[in-house]
Formats: sequence, C-alpha cells, structure tokens
Amino acid sequence: MKKIVLEEHFLTPALAGYGANVEAFIDPEHFRHYKSRLGDFEDIRLQEMDAHGIDISVLSVTTPGVQVEPDCAIAVRKAKEVNDMLATVMQRNPTRFSGFAHLALQDPVEAANELERAVKQLGMCGALINGHTNGEYLDDPKFWPVWERAEALDVPIYLHPANAPDSAKCLDGYVELLGPAWAWTAETATHALRMVMGGVFDRFPKVTLVLGHMGETLPFVLWRLDSRYKMMKHTHTLQKLPSQYIRDNIMITTAGSCDVPALLCSMLALGADRIMFSVDYPYESTAEAVDFITRAPISEIDRAKICHLNAERLLRL
Ligand code: MN
Repeated sequence: MKKIVLEEHFLTPALAGYGANVEAFIDPEHFRHYKSRLGDFEDIRLQEMDAHGIDISVLSVTTPGVQVEPDCAIAVRKAKEVNDMLATVMQRNPTRFSGFAHLALQDPVEAANELERAVKQLGMCGALINGHTNGEYLDDPKFWPVWERAEALDVPIYLHPANAPDSAKCLDGYVELLGPAWAWTAETATHALRMVMGGVFDRFPKVTLVLGHMGETLPFVLWRLDSRYKMMKHTHTLQKLPSQYIRDNIMITTAGSCDVPALLCSMLALGADRIMFSVDYPYESTAEAVDFITRAPISEIDRAKICHLNAERLLRL
C-alpha cells in the first residue's frame, strides 16, 4: 500500500548548534545514530524508504531550529537559506520528497511571507513549527498573520514539540521524563489547547493544525475537556465546545507512536479521515512503524486513508 510520511526530520550544519538542549538528554550512542541520518537525504534515507515501502517523505527541520536564535535577522536569513536548500533536495527527487517550510516566528509577518514563498515558489506543502518561540505561543495575536496566510494559502501547519521555555518542578530529578519521553507531550498538547481556548480557530476556521505522536494525548481527553469547560471560568468566549475544534481543525499523525490501542482510540475519537501515518525519522524505526500500520487491526479502506489518502488530500500531493 502506498505510504506518505510527514514528520521526517533533517538538520543542516548551519542549524546544528540550536539542538544542544535536546542533545543533552539523549543517550550518546543513540544521538550518534540520529546525527548520521539527520544530515543525509539521498543515501541512507532513500534506501530506508525503498526498503520499507515509503513512497513520499515530507521533510522538516528537526527541533528546535531557528526558533531559538536570539537574533531575529539571523533567524530570518537562516530560515530562508534552509528552505532554499530543502527545495533543491525536493527538485532532485520530486517524486520522493516534499517539504514543510522552516519559519523564523520571531518576526510573524516575515514568517507569513516566507510561508507564502515556500508554498508558491518552492513547492512546499505547509510549515512545521517547533513549539513556542522565545516563550511565546501560537495563540498570541502577534502570530495571527501566520494563521491568516496559512488559511489563505490553504496549507496546514504542523505543530512539533520543543523544550519548554522553563523547567517544570514536577520533572525535577527525572531526566527520563524530559523531551520526547513525556515533557514534550505535555508542552505540545497544552500549546494546541491554548489555540483552542484562545479562539484561534474561531478567528481562522479553515486552518488545519497537525499534531504528531498520535495527537499528543488529546484524542484520549475530549470528553473531559468539554465536561470541565462547562464548569470553568472562561478566558475567551468560544463558539463551540473544545472537542469540536480538535475534531474540526486538528489532524494527527502516528509519528513516534506504534501503538494499536492509541490508534484505535484516535480513530474512535477523531475518525479515520483525521489520522495520517508517519515515522518520525530518524528518531523512530521505519521498519517498526511500517510493520505497525501494516498489521493494525483496521479495515483496508481506513488503512488507505491513514497511509496516504488523507495526506494526499490535505497536502495536495
Ligand atoms: Mn519529530
């Protein structure tokens, strides 16, 4: 069955320094394995795609990229450079690689313009944003130009995790709970919920936000979000219940989650039309992810939706 994957990462030498806070909590042997694959496009990556039947990889900069660059002008310049570089990789392999733009959110108007350039001139199919930017989250009105442009261009924004801007007391003393193990899940689910509760999807109802890692636990908590929303004080007046925005404006991928119970919960909560297969290369095993989606106890039409039909529709591939 055809497979399109869309949380697949790379790194360029110009961006390597930004990942120091991520490298700090990864076992060194694993980090060497990741590093050797992040900088590669045509050798190991294409071979792995061929070996496991991945037809198209939508590539993106690994977390955090230029969003942690303190100098706005440098961030803007490096984002453009990496998008130009990614475009050349896509041009060399037009049937195998697509891309999500890298954006310097430090300047939201510039980021919106770069999104438009990446989509219209470089052939990319949206953008991937690595969490907060200097502690500012995407519900902040300063980022409205980005949502306005994404809506006008009709392209999705993939919200990928990053380290939180501050360290949570509840994680003290447990390095094994940092990053992708748990901390990013809490950070990214909260980030998406800030957008829901902040009314971003009321203002920009046609926006599609994509979340990886089987929706960062949100499919599991829809009922409770609505139930408790009804008894809480409200910061913003929403037009719908919280779960409805998650169903209408958020799509999820299986990136980094090869778990049948989580997949079935997500299908029941959101529907098979809202879920897309992904690997999270090179941090997860392509072989394991493909084996998971191939053997998952779901119908063949749902498998086709998740493996490629939903991505083809959303990304116009
Ligand atoms: Mn990832």
